[in-house]
Amino acid sequence: DITTPEPISEAELVFEGALRPKSLDEFVGQAKVRGQLQLLLQAAGIQGRTADHILLAGPPGLGKTTLAMIVAHESGKPLRMSSGPAIQHAGDLAAVLSSLVPGEVLFIDEIHRMARSAEEMLYLAMEDFRIDIMVGKGAGATSVPLDLAPFTLVGATTRSGMLPNPLRDRFGFTAHLEFYADSELEQVLHRAARMLDFDIDREGLAEIAGRSRGTPRIANRLLRRVRDYVLVHGGDADLAAVKAALTLYDVDELGLDRLDRAVMDIMLTRFGGGPVGLNTLAVSVGEEAETIESVVEPFLVRIGLITRTPRGRVATPQAFAHFGVANPQGSFL
Ligand code: ATP
Repeated sequence: DITTPEPISEAELVFEGALRPKSLDEFVGQAKVRGQLQLLLQAAGIQGRTADHILLAGPPGLGKTTLAMIVAHESGKPLRMSSGPAIQHAGDLAAVLSSLVPGEVLFIDEIHRMARSAEEMLYLAMEDFRIDIMVGKGAGATSVPLDLAPFTLVGATTRSGMLPNPLRDRFGFTAHLEFYADSELEQVLHRAARMLDFDIDREGLAEIAGRSRGTPRIANRLLRRVRDYVLVHGGDADLAAVKAALTLYDVDELGLDRLDRAVMDIMLTRFGGGPVGLNTLAVSVGEEAETIESVVEPFLVRIGLITRTPRGRVATPQAFAHFGVANPQGSFL
């Protein structure tokens, strides 16, 4: 789906690599997080030590991987990439940790998916740069301590709430990434268009930004589809071309993706606007509750289509209006 916030192909990953900002100065938006990171890295630099461990939390496609690369780049240290799902045993983590060079930045994407046994090893590693390795089996097993090179862990998660407290507490800093404002996405797009040598006008860029679900990854992807459209149909890359291209790909004015739409459809037509509990909603659309809570819901709340109440999720009057569904409570509002 063209508006899913996860990468959709290998080609896209290559393309993203080329567009990634390399420094904090080039990184658009997230002003607060940028300032906080800058301070943290500078302080570490002044003292000549490795930076504190950093947790990056937020929906997919907002720049967590990019920020991890920037942390390594700004500290002048190499970056090692790993992910929670790839760490299924403590041994997987031990292999990575024991091979780090001093100051290396270790990025663990989806850190909430790591195996429990590895998590416990990570506590000690983060705190004391040390791990205990079990040698032998059964009654004769002994644990041998192993010193590690000091490193900076950058963990990324779509759900900081899923992390056990002992792990969360060991990060010196947690950055909560927010969806981007349209004006920020315009800057991301402007930069990408320049790098692609694609001459598109301001109005066109603004229109793409408004349909990008607050997500740079989606903005860059839509830009490429518009470029295709102009290449094939000729003419200027302007508002009309953007509208025609994005209509072709079923991207509506709000940039809702298929799952967003499925959730809204269930809420409006099956549950009369709610309140609906998270699990009921997840089962109804056939998705994991985790995805609904961490990817879909934050965006729908942000654009004012649903609100969270103690009794569940509720569709707003704007949601009924946008989807053209009669509001059963309309007469009472
Ligand atoms: P995931 O969690 O799915 O890995 P992510 O949050 O790590 O996603 P990135 O891979 O870092 O997201 O970013 C996705 C794309 O968006 C990249 O092409 C990157 O260049 C671009 N991008 C993200 N944030 C910014 C930004 N602030 N400025 C410019 N480009 C950005």
